Amino acid sequence: SIDPNFAASRERTPVAETGLDVDADYDAWGPVEPPETLGVHGTHVAVDFDVCTGEGPCLENCPVDVFEWVETPGHPASEVKAVPVDEAQCIDCMLCVDVCPVDAIDVDGG
Ligand code: SF4
Repeated sequence: SIDPNFAASRERTPVAETGLDVDADYDAWGPVEPPETLGVHGTHVAVDFDVCTGEGPCLENCPVDVFEWVETPGHPASEVKAVPVDEAQCIDCMLCVDVCPVDAIDVDGG
């Protein structure tokens, strides 16, 4: 599951510096060493890409469409990840946290 202390214990990396093809502006949290290690993506809505298995219940259930797919070829857990491209729209319903099969998502620090 996601490290709940990611923002305090990991190095901040702007998503533009992660090498992923993401059209959004948010912070990721290291280590980020593609393709095998991708870190935690987002801060208010944070997805641990190294835990995410790319099954998509967060995309399907989020009422305000916070997530989009990004391809992550070569990652050992899955080759697509749910990117919190629009985390500012989150209404804290916690559905994504509840439906994630691998506890890869943390909303607002818990
Ligand atoms: Fe979407 Fe709710 Fe998750 Fe926020 S907490 S990203 S609104 S599903």
